[in-house]
Amino acid sequence: MLDDKDRIFTNLYGMGDRTLAGAKARGHWDGTGDLIKRGKEWIVQEMKDSGLRGRGGAGFPTGLKWSFMPKESDGRPSYLVVNADESEPGTCKDREIMRHDPHTLIEGCLIASFAMGAHAAYIYIRGEYIREKEAFQRALDEAYDDGLLGKNAAGSGWDFDLYITHGAGAYICGEETALLESLEGKKGMPRLKPPFPAGAGLYGCPTTVNNVESIAVVPTILRRGASWFAGFGRENNHGTKIFAISGHVNRPCVVEEAMSIPFEELIDKHCGGIRGGWDNLKAVVPGGSSVPCLPGKLIREDGIMDFDWLKEKKSGLGTAAVIVMDQSVDMIKAIWRFAAFYKHESCGQCTPCREGTGWMMRVMERLVRGEAEIEEIDMLLDVTKQVEGHTICALGDAAAWPIQGLIRHFRDEIEDRITHKRAARKPVAAE
Ligand code: SF4
Repeated sequence: MLDDKDRIFTNLYGMGDRTLAGAKARGHWDGTGDLIKRGKEWIVQEMKDSGLRGRGGAGFPTGLKWSFMPKESDGRPSYLVVNADESEPGTCKDREIMRHDPHTLIEGCLIASFAMGAHAAYIYIRGEYIREKEAFQRALDEAYDDGLLGKNAAGSGWDFDLYITHGAGAYICGEETALLESLEGKKGMPRLKPPFPAGAGLYGCPTTVNNVESIAVVPTILRRGASWFAGFGRENNHGTKIFAISGHVNRPCVVEEAMSIPFEELIDKHCGGIRGGWDNLKAVVPGGSSVPCLPGKLIREDGIMDFDWLKEKKSGLGTAAVIVMDQSVDMIKAIWRFAAFYKHESCGQCTPCREGTGWMMRVMERLVRGEAEIEEIDMLLDVTKQVEGHTICALGDAAAWPIQGLIRHFRDEIEDRITHKRAARKPVAAE
C-alpha cells in the first residue's frame, strides 16, 4: 500500500486548506521557478525517465508525447491543452484534483507549457463540472495575484497565461481533436488524423493535449525525481495512480495508490471488500465503461491493476475507474446500458459508428429480454469487429469493446436467457 509520504495529492478529499496558502504549506509551488530554469531538455528527459504514461485512458508515455512538439517555433505559437472533460462513465478522479488540489494542476500547466515552448494553456472542463470550474477559477485567480502566472510566472523568466473553457456536456469532446474543435468554437466532432495535434492542433498550431492527472503529477515528479516516481509499479507501468472505485464494494472511494497494486488489495484496503463478501463478486469493469469487463474470479485471483496486465487479459486500465459488480447484476442489461450511452454520444460523423452503435444497442435490448436467436450472438460479435478500428475516433472501439467482453466471458448467461425465454413460450401441447 502507498505510504502517505508518497502521495502526490495530499488534499484529494478536500479536508485540508484548498487555498494557495494551504497548497504552499503542503509543498506545492516550492522552487517552481528554479525547476523551470533547469531547462526544457531536462524537464522532458525527467518525464521520460519517470515512466509516466498518460492518465486519460490511452496510457501513451507523457515525456515522449511532449518531445513531439517542435523544438524551435516556425512562427506559430505552441499550446498545451488540458483535457478536463472527464465524462467516461465511472470516472471521477480529475474532479477531485480540480476542486480540492487545484494548485497541483496549475503548477503542472506552467512547467509542462514551458517544456513545450507554450506561453498559453487551456483547460477544457466538462460542462457538468460547474462547482469544479468555480473552485478552479478561484485557484487560478489566486495564482495570478501571487505572480505565479502571467509575466515572469513564478519568477521563472517565462511568460505564461492559463485559461479555462467550459464545455457543454458532450462525451465526445473528451476525444482530443473534438475537444480542439469545441475549443475553437465549432461543433465537437473529431478530426481525421494525421495531422496530429503536435503538428497542427489548436488553431492549426502545435498542441499537446494531456489529461488533468498527467499534468498535475509533473511538479512533484520533478521535485522528488524521476527515479522516485519510477520506483512504483512494475516495469513499463510506473508511478502512483488515482483509482475511482464504484459499484458493489462496501465503501466506494477515490484513492491514490501505487500502480500495479493487486486488485484484491486495492478493494480490501480502501473499499472494505466486496458487498456480501468476495464470493459475491461477479464482474469488474476495471477502467471506465469503454473497457471490456472481466469475470470476478479472474481479477480476484491474479488481478494486477496496471496497463499491461489488464491489456494481457483483453481489458484495459483506461481511466482506472473500477466498476465492481456483484451477483445481483444482470450483466447483459449492464452492458446494454453502456451500449445505449455510446449510441447517444456518437457524433454521427462516420457510418460504422453512427449506424453500428444503434444497431448494437438494439440487439443488446433484445438480448436483455432473451428475445433473440442464439446465432445472433455471433452476428453481434461480428458487427462489433466491423465497428472496431473502422471509425474516425476511438468512440467506435469504446462502443464495441464492452459487448465483446460480455460475449467473451458471459456468453452462457446470454444463451441461458434465450433458451429459457424460448422454453417459457413453448405451447403446452408441444411438450
Ligand atoms: Fe463521431 Fe463515432 Fe465517428 Fe467518433 S467514431 S467520429 S464519435 S461517428
